[in-house]
Parts: sequence; structure tokens; C-alpha cells
Amino acid sequence: MGKGFFQVPTAINEPVKSYAPGSPEREAVLAQYKVYYNSQTEVPLYIGSEEIRSGATQPMSPPHDHQHQLGHYHTAEKKHVEQAIASNLEARKSWAALPWEQRAAIFLKAAELIAGPYRAKINAATMLAQSKTVHQAEIDSACELIDFLRFNVEFMSQIYEEQPDSAEGIWNRVEYRPLEGFIYAITPFNFTAIAGNLPASAALMGNVVVWKPSDSQVFSANVIMQVFKEAGVPDGVINMVMGDPVMITETLLASPDFSGIHFTGSTHVFKSLWQQIGNNIHHYKTYPRIVGETGGKDFIIAHPSAKPQQVATAITRGAFEFQGQKCSAASRVYLPKSTADEILALVKQDVESFNAPGSPEDLSNFITAVIHEGAFDKLASYIDRAKADADAEIVVGGTYDKSVGYFIAPTVILTTTPNYVTMETELFGPVVTVYVYEDADWSETLKLVDSTSEYALTGAVMAADRYAITEATTALQNCAGNFYINDKPTGAVVGQQPFGGARASGTNDKAGSAQNLLRWVSPRLIKETLVSPEDYRYPFLG
Ligand code: NAD
Repeated sequence: MGKGFFQVPTAINEPVKSYAPGSPEREAVLAQYKVYYNSQTEVPLYIGSEEIRSGATQPMSPPHDHQHQLGHYHTAEKKHVEQAIASNLEARKSWAALPWEQRAAIFLKAAELIAGPYRAKINAATMLAQSKTVHQAEIDSACELIDFLRFNVEFMSQIYEEQPDSAEGIWNRVEYRPLEGFIYAITPFNFTAIAGNLPASAALMGNVVVWKPSDSQVFSANVIMQVFKEAGVPDGVINMVMGDPVMITETLLASPDFSGIHFTGSTHVFKSLWQQIGNNIHHYKTYPRIVGETGGKDFIIAHPSAKPQQVATAITRGAFEFQGQKCSAASRVYLPKSTADEILALVKQDVESFNAPGSPEDLSNFITAVIHEGAFDKLASYIDRAKADADAEIVVGGTYDKSVGYFIAPTVILTTTPNYVTMETELFGPVVTVYVYEDADWSETLKLVDSTSEYALTGAVMAADRYAITEATTALQNCAGNFYINDKPTGAVVGQQPFGGARASGTNDKAGSAQNLLRWVSPRLIKETLVSPEDYRYPFLG
């Protein structure tokens, strides 16, 4: 243990750089983009001190330029996954015993590396791997990941400070032990910050982790792994494996040492993981922690008192930034009849002012490609269906083209059926569906918002009328874990708006808060009696 009550540096949110023409950051990120684009990167499995090249590889390509290859990544066989567990358990012996301030220093260093020498690399990698504009890359892979790392260190020290009272003659204390065994982190394609945070948050609390990034994010995951190595995360504390998710998952969940899952991704995958863990429950040495943040069908409801221009901007930004591939993206919108035409005309004007979807290397593009062909085909099929259905019409967009990149035009569907398929189903793309309600049906429409979807992730009410805001805040209490008043439902900032949803959207353990870190520790209460009694007889016996 350290010999001092150390105070960690106060966490502050990393300032977002502008990338305006002529700025040094713009030059640096575009230069790095070219370097990556014009070279071939080979991503190994990272297990213990080894970089394993299995020979069984998969190509990596930018979604906006899918015929171009950025390189390959190696995939794991079952023996590699078993090796990752063994290496974790060996590393745990030293890692769990390391004084907490040493762990803190490693992850604070990782934050500084991303803020400085790795900033252009991690942003360029995210532009290429996930087709983010430079602004979307900056707020995700640089700023949000830096914030997760810095704030989690502060939250860890707050957790450690939380100690019980002690009565006279005794001293009670709590130590926050890491879980026994290893944690399995499974991360989605859409946020480089989440990919880094899920393994790092558990490791920060003294755990060891097998991390499986999404196939579509390996290129930027590799930069995270380079940062972890340079920051001094010891070998075996975070092992990164890629490949068949079913085989990897079955192998890890079959281990008696599996002690928790840190998942972000779609609802059906998470439910199947939960089921598998349940089926294996008799094999485990400990009850595994199950933490998952999953899908959403996030809403905006506008009251007749809301300013049309503000509602339109919330829709344009909330639905279309990063091609609607944020779990928090607005995808169902409720507009009052009195202002609906004006709002829709403004959104149409916004969308028509965008360049056609293109490469993020051209910084004037607001919309780029969706992540892969599967996503493209799914979105195209829902757009075609809306064109054919009598109760739906396309207000703007509705075109798509996958010849060069997976480009879907930002699309607004207007429906007369409040439970139309695209009002209920998570599409995860630049498609938003609007339902227009009679102004007099405001209260009824709030019930509709609450009952239309299985999800409860984010949502927004837009209104000037304070009574309407109050009514919506109460009526929509359980249908969003992050609820916005007069704002778009995206853009949660670590340390300010801890993020997570309920119902089918996840376990709501709020990434970017102390609540999440508490899932990765098992407190041990130590009661010490300072002078032990020497007679069993209590006074009442006399
Ligand atoms: P996904 O569910 O397809 O994949 C997520 C991860 O699970 C990937 O690593 C994938 O390889 C793995 N996976 C897939 N099938 C698996 C299986 N059978 N067993 C084990 N692992 C498996 O999700 P995605 O497309 O990468 O991400 C988009 C989804 O994530 C959306 O539903 C979105 O709403 C959700 N998401 C939620 C949040 C949140 O905080 N609530 C944040 C980001 C993304």
C-alpha cells in the first residue's frame, strides 16, 4: 500500500479542438490519415507479452471506400482464447496487489498520450475504420476516451474514500477488492471511446480483462492497445482477441474463473449472453457481474410551444450526425400538427444543404458511410418498404448507393401510423421517422411515446411551456435513462451526463460514473476490535 492519502488530479473534460482550416490539428490528422491509408497495417492478437499472428486473417477496409484495404487482423483459435485466460490469471497475481495509485498513474498516462502524441493517430484511425467525420472522431476517440480515463481515476479515489463509521473500541474499514477471476469486455463498432473504456474501467479497479473488439473497429482498437502498452499496462492485464464471437464467447463463458461481462452492443446479443451465463451458473466460482448497455429507439417529442427552428436543429443533429449510428440517435419524432409542416420544411432544408454522403477525408462532408454492407442492406430495405407502404412517405432522402462506400442519404419518413415498423425497430442509420399528432392530444401522445418501444435509452422533450415540460418529465420517467429538455438526445459528456438506459436498453450502470466502477469490485469489510473481550458473560446475565 502507498504511504500517503494521495489526491488524484482533478478531472476536467478535454477541450474539443476545432479542426478549422489552417489549424495544426487539421493538418496533423489529415497527414496521419494519408499515412494509414497508404500503408498496410497488420493487427495481431495481444496476449500477455506476445503479439500473436495466427495466420487466419480478415481484411480491414474503410466503409466509405470499401474496395481499399487498410491491412489485416489476425483471428483467434480456441487455444488462443484459453491462452488469454491463463495469461490474465497469471497477471492478476501482481496487478491486483499493485498499489492503486500506480494503476491510476498508468491510466492517467494513457489519457495524456491520447491528448498529445496519439491524438492524430486515434482520430485518423477512427475516421478510417468507422467513417467518422473529424469532429465526430475528435469528440469520441480523443475527448470522450480521455474523459473516461481521467474521470474514472477520480471516481476510483472517491470509492476508496467511502468508509464506514466505527464505534468506540473498534475500527471498521472497507477495501474494494477486484473480482476474483477475469472480466470479459465486448465492445461495439460505433465508439472508439467505449471500446477503450470497457476494458480500461475494469482494469483500473484491479481486474484483468479479455477484450474482444468489434470486427468493424479493429483498426482503431489497435491504436488503443498501443496506447495501453506505452502507458504501462502490464502484459496480460488486458488481452485483445478478435475472431468468431460465438467461439470466443463460448470459450470464455465456460471458464470457472469468468467473473463478469462488460458489454456494449445490441439487445439480442446481450440477452443471449445473459442466457449463456445463466446456463453455466453452476460452473462459476463466483456470481458473475453482468453489465450491458444495449439498443435504443430514442425519441424527440415537440410541444406546440416549442420553437420550430430549435426542433428542426435537434432533429437534424440528433438523427443524422455519425449517420444516426449513435445508440442515442433520435429515430422517432412526434410533432404537433400546428408546427409540423414548418419543422419538416426546415429539416428538409438542412438535409438538402449537406454534401452528398462521402469520405471523411473531405472535411466539408457532414454525412459519410454506414459501417458495413449488412447495415447498408438493412437500411435500404426499410427505405424501400417506406416507399411502398401506404401509411408512410419519404419527406427527404430515400436514396442509397454502395458502389464506392456504404452511402445512405439522410432520410426522413413521415408516417400516419404511430407504431409503424420504423417507429419501433432500431435501424441504426440515418433514418428518422416522424408521426404528427393533434395538438389537443399532447397527454395521450406522451403515453404513446412511453409505450411504443421496448427500449428506454434517450429521449428529448422540446417545449417553451413549463407545465408541458413538467408533465412530460413525469409521464416519460421510465422510457429514457438519459432525458433531455430542449436539446437533442445525443452527446452525453463523461462527468456531466453519466450514460445508460433501462428496459431493453441495458442494465443502466451508467458508463462514466462511480456506479459503473462499483460493479468491478467486491468490497471486503474488515472489523478490527482494538481490545478483545476476555469473558463471554454479558452484563444482563448477572
Ligand atoms: P453488435 O451487438 O452487433 O456487436 C457488439 C459486439 O458484440 C461486437 O464486439 C460483436 O462482435 C459482438 N457479438 C456479436 N455477436 C455476438 C455473439 N453471438 N456472442 C458474443 N458477442 C457477439 O453491435 P454493434 O453493431 O457493434 O453496435 C451497435 C449496437 O450497440 C446498437 O444496438 C447500439 O444501440 C448499441 N450501443 C449501445 C450503447 C449504449 O450505451 N446503450 C452504446 C453504443 C452502442
